Amino acid sequence: MSEWKCGNCGKIYNVYELLSLKKIKLVEADDDTNPIHGYTAVCDCGYRFHIDRWRIDDRIDVIVDDKESELIISSIFLELNAKILDEEDEYYETAILWLDDTEEGIKNIEVIQQYDTKENAILGHNKLVKTIKDGKYKVEKEIVFEYEENRIIFEDE
Ligand SMILES: [Zn+2]
Repeated sequence: MSEWKCGNCGKIYNVYELLSLKKIKLVEADDDTNPIHGYTAVCDCGYRFHIDRWRIDDRIDVIVDDKESELIISSIFLELNAKILDEEDEYYETAILWLDDTEEGIKNIEVIQQYDTKENAILGHNKLVKTIKDGKYKVEKEIVFEYEENRIIFEDE
């Protein structure tokens, strides 16, 4: 059973309980009346799922293929527990958003780590930022469904 967690009061909902909560539009000006799209649940405490979730982003300059590029290290509260079976809860995640060097787009998203708590997510986020700023990495390519993606490889310390 999926577990959704409020980012404010910490209450856990299964998917049926989540769907039974009050709904609001994701975007206030959105006139789309399709009930499937564009709505999000609101916890009894007032927390708006998706809209109010915790997130930190750091943009960092990197060199990819001998060219200057940028990536974003993004850590977020997932809201949906990503744990596998009886493993630890995983409500937080750090990912690298590799930016496309030709457009203002994202080339690929690489999930680096998942965590049980916000404290651990902040520690993991800051460690990754430092590792990349210190240049202790290299970038490799991997072909996924005929599409080339960037992968970070950490140098042994
Ligand atoms: Zn709540």
